[in-house]
Amino acid sequence: MTRKVPVFIDGEFKQSATEQWIDVTNPATQEVIAQAPVTTLAEMQEAVASAKKAFLTWKETPVSERARVMLRYQALLKEHHDEIAEILAGETGKTFDDAKGDVWRGIEVVEHAANIPSLLMGETVENVARGIDSYSYTQPLGVCAGITPFNFPAMIPLWMFPLAIACGNTFILKPSEQDPLTPTRLAELFVEAGAPKGVLQVIHGGKEQVDFLLDEPAVRAISFVGSVPVGQYIYRRGTENMKRVQAFAGAKNHCVIMPDANKSQVISNLVGASVGAAGQRCMAISVAVFVGAAREWIPEIAAELAKVKPGGWNDKGAAFGPLISPQAKQRVEQFISQGEKEGAELLVDGRNCEVEGFPDGNWVGPTMFGKVTTDMEIYKNEIFGPVLCTTEVNSLEEAIALVNANPYGNGTSIFTASGAAARKYQHEVEVGQVGINIPIPVPLPFFSFTGWKGSFFGDLHAYGKQGVRFYSETKTITARWFESDIADASGPNMT
Ligand code: NAD
Repeated sequence: MTRKVPVFIDGEFKQSATEQWIDVTNPATQEVIAQAPVTTLAEMQEAVASAKKAFLTWKETPVSERARVMLRYQALLKEHHDEIAEILAGETGKTFDDAKGDVWRGIEVVEHAANIPSLLMGETVENVARGIDSYSYTQPLGVCAGITPFNFPAMIPLWMFPLAIACGNTFILKPSEQDPLTPTRLAELFVEAGAPKGVLQVIHGGKEQVDFLLDEPAVRAISFVGSVPVGQYIYRRGTENMKRVQAFAGAKNHCVIMPDANKSQVISNLVGASVGAAGQRCMAISVAVFVGAAREWIPEIAAELAKVKPGGWNDKGAAFGPLISPQAKQRVEQFISQGEKEGAELLVDGRNCEVEGFPDGNWVGPTMFGKVTTDMEIYKNEIFGPVLCTTEVNSLEEAIALVNANPYGNGTSIFTASGAAARKYQHEVEVGQVGINIPIPVPLPFFSFTGWKGSFFGDLHAYGKQGVRFYSETKTITARWFESDIADASGPNMT
């Protein structure tokens, strides 16, 4: 019998009463490895009631005790690192190294959450008026919820619930229905780390379950990561319902290559950053912008890109795995055909890719287009596949103008040996995360993940100090004590 993914409600992993199940498949073989429940209304209501109840005691739990849960959780995640990565590789198709990276980047956020006592420290000013002091506290919101995408089933849930819970909130997670096994394992280990009953709940499903969370009055804040249309929808409906919402969405990330850049670094970094994880990363480099004479490297980059191959998760020679679903593969191949029709130069064609031993996998090989222009659909859309578009400009100013005209603003990078060019780029580019000679500049968790423009809807970003502020309220106290009330040695002041 196919394994049924449990819901995690009120401290129990249990089989949903639903009659609707979603197949979870291995993208390299199409084998159905599990089924995720379309969680029922009654179960979701139970999850909310349990999260509300748990909040009453969890918010009073001393902050150092909350931090200790995170310390134990970090140790357990490290201990089970490879086992989680294997589960993750089985349902996403990622290579083992990539799957381990997905888990590791999540562990780093748990480490950040373990610092919660100092992260929660407020501000104080003495004598704001004569004998009057002001100080602020950071208090939790209540029940928070997270909706996560398929492409980082360990890292992205871990962006959310550890920090929200360390702040004193309780949390309902609705992970992607395409890879729910990894988040389930994360929840099991969280229980083992000592998280009390009801502090975390995990429900499964799709739009209907998300709509429930968006409309449920007890849910105070929603964190979302996923595609642009869904992100916009969640931001609109969540804020319409007066909730706090942070929605991280799609991207089109440019890498600018100056002619003075280190050529071998450019080639190896571009290959990994564009087709790694089959291009299914919101920070993947999908457009390379060659400035001036750097365009002469394009044929060499195409030759290197053509050498890398996709393969099974434990194939050490594989650079990346399959796409998540047959629909995703079809969509990417359609974009490749469209690029050809639009007049871009197809330098490397990843269509009709075959991998020995996996005849049914959702394979697309490395793909590269030359002479891409900004009016082409392959430029305007996030392809989310192993496809690198390249374009050519004559100056750094032109490159900056091109990047700034793009509606997305998640990540970008510049490769150059000139500090002045790098300084100009970092200062003028309208993108929230900038790499200098680093292709995928994902900030570590003591900073925040700061996408801009069409890649983010909201105000406060994920993790770092901003994550703490997102999951908390600030209470400011102004206090006056009367010296005349101080009891002296003879007893209380009776005047
Ligand atoms: P998706 O938007 O299809 O799904 C994300 C989540 O939303 C899932 O849990 C899904 O069940 C739910 N959902 C799907 N359709 C819905 C609807 N109509 N109404 C309500 N909820 C719905 O995204 P995906 O395909 O899982 O993930 C890939 C996307 O995520 C890419 O666009 C990628 O760029 C983006 N992403 C962004 C970041 C970032 O930090 N900016 C990080 C990772 C992924």
